[in-house]
Amino acid sequence: MSKPRLDGKVAIVTGGASGIGEAAARLFASSGATVVIADIQDALGEAVAASAGCTYMRCDVTDEAQVEATVGAVVAAHGRLDVMLSNAGVLLPTGSVMDMDLAELERVMAVNFRGAAACVKHAARAMVPPNGARGGAIVCTASVASLQGGFGPASYTASKHALLGLVRAAAGELGRHGVRVNCVSPSGVATPMSCALMGVGPEELEAMTVPHNVLRGKVLRAEDVAEAALFLASDQAGFISGHNLVVDGATTAVNPAVLHTVGL
Ligand code: NAD
Repeated sequence: MSKPRLDGKVAIVTGGASGIGEAAARLFASSGATVVIADIQDALGEAVAASAGCTYMRCDVTDEAQVEATVGAVVAAHGRLDVMLSNAGVLLPTGSVMDMDLAELERVMAVNFRGAAACVKHAARAMVPPNGARGGAIVCTASVASLQGGFGPASYTASKHALLGLVRAAAGELGRHGVRVNCVSPSGVATPMSCALMGVGPEELEAMTVPHNVLRGKVLRAEDVAEAALFLASDQAGFISGHNLVVDGATTAVNPAVLHTVGL
């Protein structure tokens, strides 16, 4: 199988200034796409865009008007939108469910779920007639927390479960317009988000998590997640929609504690 390409396609990557989004923006651009990074970290976003051959636009995904304006500006500048990678996300230490800060819960939902919903909505509008040509690929960065509890605070887990529901519903509705909608769901990757939560640097975080991985001899990196997103965004995934592509080295496929107990 040849490597997926995005030649001639126009893509928006939200949260593209850092971590997984940055890796995806770089990979999409080097795979032939015209890439617009949409983020709220202006200096970082501008720097990544300059070094990756992308452009940067400030867009706070919690503000629907900004999402709509970003999509509109991209279509005005490039004539079309083919790919939306809705990747912007936050992970706040909302604490135990028993003393959960509900204001923080709303902040997490505002970015991870409501923000993604705005991205799906306005990308879809640009991809179907009368605005678009018909067709396109929307990929949302969810998480293994879209499938199981225990990978993060309840607020984060709830936001990613909700996101998976949104993706499945949108795939059902948008299929008739030729628009594919999928999730990519990584397990732990050492990025500014995860390092800040744990209060450690990337090497220390990887050293902490690797012993618990089911798949040994490899560490999950942002670039691996970007490759999965590239596949879903590309025509090679032409009949894949409503899918949650888990990138977790089998972590959610088996129960490691049971594996250990039965001696396997
Ligand atoms: P990161 O902090 O490196 O990147 C997140 C980016 O989103 C940042 O550039 C940030 O500025 C941007 N962002 C935050 N709020 C925004 C807003 N309101 N509008 C626009 N941009 C905003 O973190 P990351 O780990 O690369 O996270 C990317 C995605 O991957 C998130 O959706 C996250 O939930 C998901 N994810 C991460 C991990 C992990 O272990 N790092 C695992 C599974 C899923």
